[in-house]
Amino acid sequence: MNNSGNPGSTTPRVIARAAHNVSRDEISKSALKVLYRLHKAGYQAFLVGGGVRDAMLELHPKDFDIATNATPEEVRALFGNCRLIGRRFRLAHVRFGREIIEVATFRAAANHADDDSEHDHAGRIIRDNVYGTIDEDVWRRDFTCNALYYNIADFSIWDYVDGFEDVKRRRLVMIGDPAQRLREDPVRMLRAVRFAAKLNFTIDASVVDAMRGLTGLLANVPAARLFDEFQKLFQSGFAERTFDLLREHRLFGELFPATEQELSQDENFMSFVRAALQNTDRRVSEDKSVTPMFLLGVFLWVPIKKLAASKRSEEKMSESQSLALASFDIVAQQQRRISLPRRFTIPMREMLALQPRFAFVRGRRAMNLLEHRRFRAAYDFMLLQSEAGHIDAELARFWTDVQNQSTSEREVSFQMQAQPGKKRRPRRRRRRQSSQES
Ligand code: ATP
Ligand code: MG
Repeated sequence: MNNSGNPGSTTPRVIARAAHNVSRDEISKSALKVLYRLHKAGYQAFLVGGGVRDAMLELHPKDFDIATNATPEEVRALFGNCRLIGRRFRLAHVRFGREIIEVATFRAAANHADDDSEHDHAGRIIRDNVYGTIDEDVWRRDFTCNALYYNIADFSIWDYVDGFEDVKRRRLVMIGDPAQRLREDPVRMLRAVRFAAKLNFTIDASVVDAMRGLTGLLANVPAARLFDEFQKLFQSGFAERTFDLLREHRLFGELFPATEQELSQDENFMSFVRAALQNTDRRVSEDKSVTPMFLLGVFLWVPIKKLAASKRSEEKMSESQSLALASFDIVAQQQRRISLPRRFTIPMREMLALQPRFAFVRGRRAMNLLEHRRFRAAYDFMLLQSEAGHIDAELARFWTDVQNQSTSEREVSFQMQAQPGKKRRPRRRRRRQSSQES
């Protein structure tokens, strides 16, 4: 029997160290330091969330969240390398070099009538910052697999919600009433999909049912938060599976409406997007860097290309120009859902506007493309298009080969040397410039 629908249970099942596989070897040294120091100072200290869940699944967790009964100020007093952050929740960040360990004080559930939490008209929590005890803290967590508490005092796991069994059965079960919990925070729909993709879990039918009517609530979520979530969804190494699940649960269209509209009627676009997602996953698995601007460019490519074509039919301009202009407009539309920082939209626009230039393989201007600061990204983008069959493979091979050539070889490739028998026309003097100089 699952008691996840029974908030308020105050007796956890305690799973002794001998009965579970969460080993301290799986927990980072820094997280252990924080746990031990809190414990020695007389506070309760638990590892919670993804750290425990992923350790149980032998997935080598990288991110560690700690829950304690010490207040943020008390945590700060214990650690020199500590900062308090957060508007919605006050959290302590303890820093060890590049690693940050997040320490959260136990919080009470957000649905008490007399507490310090607020809901908006859609039932969304907009503020909750009420400290509580562990047996209150557990009920505000999202899924049972995320609500396992690893106790540093004796290495046992405290489980109030049958999360231990759900992890073993690979089930994603919501704590409490799924519809109510999704209304409180619609991002939990995206989290459900993200965890299902990453962990290979089945989303419980009750959650799937509840999501069906609530996907539209994502429109109320601040666009900046959705950008953070977008990155987690697509840069964690499971982008393709996440994409399929997002579409299956009608969530993708809430995030990228223009993309969804094109995908549903354009198989070529779908195969291009898929190639890009697979490529992203491959890069993550090889520990190579991934930038959100690349996938954004992929997702917005067909909407931008279509708008660019219509701009060209109205006004005379180059293809590159029209792509840059169309990028502006489509990005502005997309910003209403997901805020896209300029440091990503500017390079994205450049990358897309360079695409027409790959068609030209003669002359200095063509060769200069190799020196463009956005060449690498634009080339990768073009290569994916050719993998998806949208660009001639010959052309893609040309641009691959010339990158490894010396300057003189390139001049041959781009047919820049004077051809025997043909006289080179003398350069015309630029009269205006010279007259200005005199
Ligand atoms: P990962 O770090 O792999 O993304 P995680 O489960 O640790 O997964 P975090 O976002 O780091 O996810 O959050 C830590 C924990 O905080 C979660 O496991 C969950 O218990 C709780 N939590 C985070 N976000 C929410 C939310 N939107 N609603 C309810 N609980 C949440
Ligand atoms: Mg985490």
